[in-house]
Amino acid sequence: PKKIIIQHETKDELQKMAVTFNRMMGRLDANLDKQKQFISDASHEIKTPLTIIKSYADLLRRRRIQNEEKALDVIDVIHSEATRIQKMTERLLELADTELENTLEYKSLNVITLCQNVFNQFKEVYDREIDFHYQEDSIMVIADELKIKQVIIILLDNAIKYSTDKIDVYVKDQLDSTVIRVKDYGIGIPENEIENIFERFYRVDKARSRETGGTGLGLSIAKNIMNQHNGEIKVVSTDGKGTEVVLSLPKR
Ligand code: ADP
Repeated sequence: PKKIIIQHETKDELQKMAVTFNRMMGRLDANLDKQKQFISDASHEIKTPLTIIKSYADLLRRRRIQNEEKALDVIDVIHSEATRIQKMTERLLELADTELENTLEYKSLNVITLCQNVFNQFKEVYDREIDFHYQEDSIMVIADELKIKQVIIILLDNAIKYSTDKIDVYVKDQLDSTVIRVKDYGIGIPENEIENIFERFYRVDKARSRETGGTGLGLSIAKNIMNQHNGEIKVVSTDGKGTEVVLSLPKR
C-alpha cells in the first residue's frame, strides 16, 4: 500500500486551516445563539398581548361581565392589544427586510423635500411643533428614498413618544456626508443605557414604552438601514433633558 507522507509545510497548513475552521464554527455558533434568542424574544413579545386578549375574550364569552360599560372597557383592551401585535408583526417584517442584503434602491433625492413630506404627514396626525433648520432648499443624496423616510419616521415617532415640547430637525451638507439631526427636549436616556437601545426589543422603561406603544424594534431597524447605506446613526442624550439622534449619509 502507498504511504501518505505529510510534509512539515502541509502540516502547518492543516493546522492553520483547523484554527480558521474552529473560529468560523465559533462565529456560526454565536450567530445561531443570537437567532435563537431573537426568536425566543419575539415569541415572548407576542405571547403577552395574546394571553391578555384570550383571557379577556374568555370573560366576554362566558358572559362574566354583566355591566355594559365594563364590557366596553374589556373590548377596548382587546382592541389595543391586537393593535400591538399588528404593529409588532409589521415592525418584525420591516426588520427582516433590512437584514436582507442588496435590497436598496438607490436614486438621487432631495433630503429637504423628503423631510418636509414626512413632517406634513406627522402634522396631520400629531399636534406637535417641528422646527426645520437647513441652509439650502436642495440637498441631494444618493439613497433609498423609502428606507431613509422610514428612518426619519422612526426618529420622529420616538421624539413624539418621549417628549412633549417642540422638536428640532437640522440638515447640513458637509464635504463627505449629509448630516440629519432630530432633537427633542424630553425624558432623555440614561448614559449607561445608550449602548443598549439599538438592540432588538430593548426598551429603557418597558412599562412606559408599552403604554406608548413601543416595540423596541425602531432603532434596530434604523441602524440596519443606515448600515446598508454605509452611513452612521448616533445618539447623544442627557437623562431628563432630551435626546438628539444624528444620522450621517456618506457622499457616494
Ligand atoms: P420603541 O418602539 O420602544 O420606541 P426603539 O427601538 O425605537 O423602540 O427605541 C428603544 C428605546 O430607546 C425606547 O424604548 C426608549 O426607551 C429609548 N428611546 C428611543 N428614542 C428615544 C428618545 N427620543 N427619547 C428617550 N428615549 C428614547
